Amino acid sequence: MNFIFLGPPGAGKGSLAVKVAEDYKIPHISTGDIFRAAIKNQTELGKKVKGIIDAGGLVSDDITCALVKERLEQDDVKNGFILDGFPRTIPQAEAFTGICKDVTVVNFVIKDEIVIKRLSTRRVCRKCGENYNVLTMPPKKEGICDKCGGELYQRDDDKQEAILHRMDVYREQTEPLIDFYRKRGELSDIDGATQTDELLRDFKKKFPNK
Ligand code: AMP
Repeated sequence: MNFIFLGPPGAGKGSLAVKVAEDYKIPHISTGDIFRAAIKNQTELGKKVKGIIDAGGLVSDDITCALVKERLEQDDVKNGFILDGFPRTIPQAEAFTGICKDVTVVNFVIKDEIVIKRLSTRRVCRKCGENYNVLTMPPKKEGICDKCGGELYQRDDDKQEAILHRMDVYREQTEPLIDFYRKRGELSDIDGATQTDELLRDFKKKFPNK
């Protein structure tokens, strides 16, 4: 099954995607993760997108669509995939209809206050990328990743100013996709405020693995 996880930053798309990927044995494709890896490895792409991402803006549609198209040509997507963070604009969604015809769009519904609180308290492992939350999911030892011992840090785009900018960008550029996909009959809502394990149970009932 092919899924698009749609929703504002901090809606829990990434956390659920990790669980669904494991359960359904399909790859979790996060454009944000791909860009962050490129930045970490200081590739040409990474150098091009770093400033935009740190400020909470959007990478160009051309770059993003080319990257996703290339990723979806790999063998591991033949039984399905989860796209997390793509598409984020109407031109991306239109381009995607030319890449893939059969998709279920899962729309994470969540209030702004919860998103702001979640993002500003999120911490990420510099080494393995594992996510924590200083309030709801703290590591056993402050500042250290439980899984690999790496250092936890706050993403530049999780700082207050960038969060507010990302939310504006979401409202202006990404929210219109809700209507786009609803009209196509491909959209299904999910409650982003629910904890991930419970959300996974609901998800499996709603979209049984074929
Ligand atoms: P995320 O981890 O999904 O919040 O993505 C982090 C950042 O990567 C975003 O704030 C954008 O700067 C960039 N990004 C990720 N996906 C896209 C996309 N589909 N289109 C444009 N920029 C993106």
